[in-house]
Amino acid sequence: MKKYEDEYRHKGLRRKLIASLQKKGISDQKVLDAMNNIPRHFFMDLAFDQIAYEDRAFPIGEQQTISQPYTVAYQTQLLEVKPFDKVLEIGTGSAYQSVVLAELGAQVYTIERQKKLFDSNKNFSYLKKYPGIKFFYGDGFEGLPTYAPFDKIIVTAAAPQIPPKLVEQLRTGGKMVIPVDESNTQRMLRLTKKADGTLAEEKFDSFSFVPMLGGKTNGNGQ
Ligand code: SAH
Repeated sequence: MKKYEDEYRHKGLRRKLIASLQKKGISDQKVLDAMNNIPRHFFMDLAFDQIAYEDRAFPIGEQQTISQPYTVAYQTQLLEVKPFDKVLEIGTGSAYQSVVLAELGAQVYTIERQKKLFDSNKNFSYLKKYPGIKFFYGDGFEGLPTYAPFDKIIVTAAAPQIPPKLVEQLRTGGKMVIPVDESNTQRMLRLTKKADGTLAEEKFDSFSFVPMLGGKTNGNGQ
């Protein structure tokens, strides 16, 4: 079982990180405050508690990463989360992004395809603070039809294209923030579902995510 403390020095490093995100153009104060409230080092191995407050992605096992803080802030800002929004997240990973959404008052439904990452969050005691997050082991391309429609959808892995089932599960007027592949990098898109079921598309900056892969896996090739 991991044992972490949120010490004065962590809080100081975190404040500096948040100030640097603001300098890089993140302007939504609610997003900055939410991230300032969350001890990011809890989501990584104990050995990396200094690095946790650098603005970069970091390995979390199973060839996956916790997204760079700037990327988390950028996607969250685009999602325009309001309290009580029902948000579907694809790619739970470390659960850091899920907690940022929960801090903003969202009801979070998050899906992870890697069994080991899904299981490790079951023993992650800090998450008990956030009963509004529901964790699912499954394939994000399928979404969660039982719980649809969602007000917002956030995809935190590189999507080969816009997954049609996720569009179906977005409510009219709802927004999806998704990095879609364009050769080596991904273009961040914000899609708004119109009354006729079609999408209004806005294009933002390019990013580099781990791939969104089909099916689920227990890490043993199954
Ligand atoms: N939101 C995470 C980012 C993790 S990286 C965080 O804050 O830490 C992206 C994650 O998406 C990886 O854990 C990867 O296993 C997962 N993933 C990739 N394709 C997926 C799919 N089809 N369904 C669900 N999860 C997927």
